[in-house]
Amino acid sequence: MNDLNEAYAREQLTACCRRLYERHLTVSAGGNMSVRLNPDEFLITPSGMNKGLVRPGDLIKMNLGGEVLGAGKPSIEHRFHLGLYKANPDTGAVVHCHPLYCLALTVRGEHIRSCLTPEGVLLLGEVPTVRYETPGSLELVDAVLEQSAAPAMLMAQHGALTQGRTLDEAYNRMEELEFQAHLQLLAGKAPELPPAEIAKLRKMVK
Ligand SMILES: [Zn+2]
Repeated sequence: MNDLNEAYAREQLTACCRRLYERHLTVSAGGNMSVRLNPDEFLITPSGMNKGLVRPGDLIKMNLGGEVLGAGKPSIEHRFHLGLYKANPDTGAVVHCHPLYCLALTVRGEHIRSCLTPEGVLLLGEVPTVRYETPGSLELVDAVLEQSAAPAMLMAQHGALTQGRTLDEAYNRMEELEFQAHLQLLAGKAPELPPAEIAKLRKMVK
């Protein structure tokens, strides 16, 4: 993976925060997003700031040792971002937020069925639900890292998380995940694609 220019990465991550906020994928200060700069460093959103108001200079630089490089207080959830970067050298960005329809599914105790349409299969794969743990806790970090290979996951009674090789890929997965959750709530018990078609689509992403 190529290193990312820091000024460019700050602009990209700020734009991603604004898009997530404007698309109602997160509200108020909820959620946290990060982008990897190089094998050992990443930028992450600051603690407690409304995602519609984040500016490039507000983003916090950290290394994979958990040190803040420069000023500012990173999101309380920086440890699962850091853990995902460590577990997956190809992961270039992590997006965690609290989208309404994903949350509606988890509070109803339902898992997401991501095989209702081809896009769900292609972009999301199998989507696990991470058990509930207190936000900011080491237990939540452990729960997320048990599913570290998943490109997209729901977090019980909390929200959703996606990762990708680029920020666009992680963002697109979050938008698709929320679309699939909304579709599932509208579609009720509609059947998924036939197993043979799901297998055919899965071969296309390998
Ligand atoms: Zn959260």
